[in-house]
Amino acid sequence: MKFELPALPYPYDALEPFIDARTMEIHHTKHHATYVAKLNEALEKHPAVAHASAGKPEFEILEGLLKNLEAVPEDIRTAVRNHGGGHWNHSFFWLVMAPNAGGEPSSVLAEAINNAFGSFEKFKEKFTSAGLNRFGSGWAWLVASNGKLEVYSTPNQDNPLMEGKVPVLGIDVWEHAYYVKFLWNRAEYIKTWWNVVNWRRIEENYNKIVKK
Ligand code: MN
Repeated sequence: MKFELPALPYPYDALEPFIDARTMEIHHTKHHATYVAKLNEALEKHPAVAHASAGKPEFEILEGLLKNLEAVPEDIRTAVRNHGGGHWNHSFFWLVMAPNAGGEPSSVLAEAINNAFGSFEKFKEKFTSAGLNRFGSGWAWLVASNGKLEVYSTPNQDNPLMEGKVPVLGIDVWEHAYYVKFLWNRAEYIKTWWNVVNWRRIEENYNKIVKK
């Protein structure tokens, strides 16, 4: 099997004026596409790894690899971690953004956020600071861990599945995610990004976890 670059669920300019079309296009067709290509290249060296889960949906196979990196042959483990993580993280990231989005979550997730962080504003502050304080490249996340909501960040293309946590929301804070429009200004990028956060989708992510 070969992993494939998923299409974006909206045009490249759909998140304007908040996230610019050029960033979206480069991010999707160059960065994300490269993670997919390099993941496939690594797995070609060990066809048995993907063959073992043949027939399963592509994302289940990828999540299986990331949740259990120790089981991946050592000579491709770092490649699967970086490029498989990159493929998963970006596929997830496109879906937690949408045009005509932003605002605040409602119902069950809103209540869970209030319980965990005190208020939506306090959650936003904590999430923003996780993204700002990630030195170099990485991600900030809202995750469920043992049924509790947490905010933290990961370096490079690591993701919460690798530590047994379930991602609910994530933001890419690699420079490639914002440099064209925001230059060095990661704080301005994160502040602007809240306008494209797709709370309906994120509520679905959370509801799936709660139902388990
Ligand atoms: Mn990225």
